[in-house]
Amino acid sequence: MPPVHIVGAGILGVSLAAHLIRRGQDVVLVDPSPPGREASFGNAGVISRGSVMPPNAPEIWRSLPAYALNRSSAVRYDIKALPRLAPWLARFLAGATPGRAAATAADLNGLLGDALGAHEELMALARCGHRLRRTGYLKAFRTDASFRRNAGERALLERFGIAHTVYGSAGLRELEPHLSAIFRHGVLVTDSASVDDPGAVTRAYADLVCDAGAGLVTARVQGLSAGAEGYTLHTDRAGDIAADRVVVAAGAWSGAVLAHLGVRVPLAAERGYHRRFGFDGNQRLTRPVHDVEGNYVMTCMEMGVQVSTGMELAAVDAPSTDRQLKAVEAAARTAFAFDRPVAPPWRGARPALPDGRPMIGPVPGRPGLWCAFGHGHIGFTTGPVTGRLLAEAMMTGAAPPVLAPFAPGRYLRS
Ligand SMILES: Cc1cc2nc3c(=O)[nH]c(=O)nc-3n(C[C@H](O)[C@H](O)[C@H](O)COP(=O)(O)OP(=O)(O)OC[C@H]3O[C@@H](n4cnc5c(N)ncnc54)[C@H](O)[C@@H]3O)c2cc1C
Repeated sequence: MPPVHIVGAGILGVSLAAHLIRRGQDVVLVDPSPPGREASFGNAGVISRGSVMPPNAPEIWRSLPAYALNRSSAVRYDIKALPRLAPWLARFLAGATPGRAAATAADLNGLLGDALGAHEELMALARCGHRLRRTGYLKAFRTDASFRRNAGERALLERFGIAHTVYGSAGLRELEPHLSAIFRHGVLVTDSASVDDPGAVTRAYADLVCDAGAGLVTARVQGLSAGAEGYTLHTDRAGDIAADRVVVAAGAWSGAVLAHLGVRVPLAAERGYHRRFGFDGNQRLTRPVHDVEGNYVMTCMEMGVQVSTGMELAAVDAPSTDRQLKAVEAAARTAFAFDRPVAPPWRGARPALPDGRPMIGPVPGRPGLWCAFGHGHIGFTTGPVTGRLLAEAMMTGAAPPVLAPFAPGRYLRS
């Protein structure tokens, strides 16, 4: 069989490559950067079993006035991007109803169920299991009111049988002795895990597939055309590449790649930032902590403390801003002691569809063209399980039922 060409070597692209190769299928990855440099490099490293709540849960209506004023560090938008974002935002908000949120949560739960197992499977093969910490993911609340507002999310954890433990302030101090006493409540999702360097994990998976014979073309796909024999990838540094089957796994840039064929997907870039700081003496956190009022996730990585922001809606490649990162650094310093920055600010882009679900599967009416993108804030978690399920769909011709809610056909017609 001719190779499958995968556009993009982030966690989605390399995980799919690993599973195709395991099924005996040759693969070529095409990416202008070395594997795992974009969102898959700088995320918070959480493998989050409990992230069933869609980003457009109905709770968003309460926060909307603050978001609209552009004053919250949880969500910021670039006013220049609004005209292009408006149709996406309209669909996103139209889906923020209890019924739709419940359906999306059930669909995401199907994908998240074996997300950790799928990482462990690849980690064993790629020999990077030492980076995994099975210590859960802690959501911490500074006020009783915000803990009460989280009741809907806890109900979902109960509904799906996702193991978690609720803590009061004394319990939190025992659990995370270096966390300051500002938190009154905590929810630890014990089924979750984290890694101490998501970029290194993605690179280890990429090394696994390259050692197994995958091709790696260092080039940007700047055009894509269809002909009688399949597709042609028009690249900037490697010329034209003929491809029998193409999978678009280019993260937040996937919409631009598909647009060359006239295929329009409503994909937005939910950008996010992080900054890494040195440790303060022996102060450590045992698991990633989401400070709900502070609007950041703090993770002790191999190279220091990483503070990661919420979302910024802007054009994917627009210049970085510093407001969110400054606000969350100040908040994080009231929760945990850390030293000076050890690296410059980093920016990545979460690829997001307006219904809060990724797009996984074949493009209708385009034989041989597949999608693997749009995983939003759970892409590092669900990359390997997506790769496993999509490889099965591609190689057997039958998509596993758990993929049905993520089919591209919900937005694309042939
Ligand atoms: C601040 C932040 C924190 C996050 N925290 C978490 C977390 O804790 N847990 C979690 O599960 N998820 C988290 N996420 C989300 C997660 O990082 C993403 O969903 C995931 O990394 C997306 O992976 P990807 O492979 O689709 O995209 P990417 O990692 O962005 O990779 C896309 C690849 O496509 C390539 N590409 C782009 N255009 C082209 C082109 N024209 N031709 C060829 N190649 C191209 C890029 O160079 C890149 O290598 C976070 C994201 C951010 C920004």
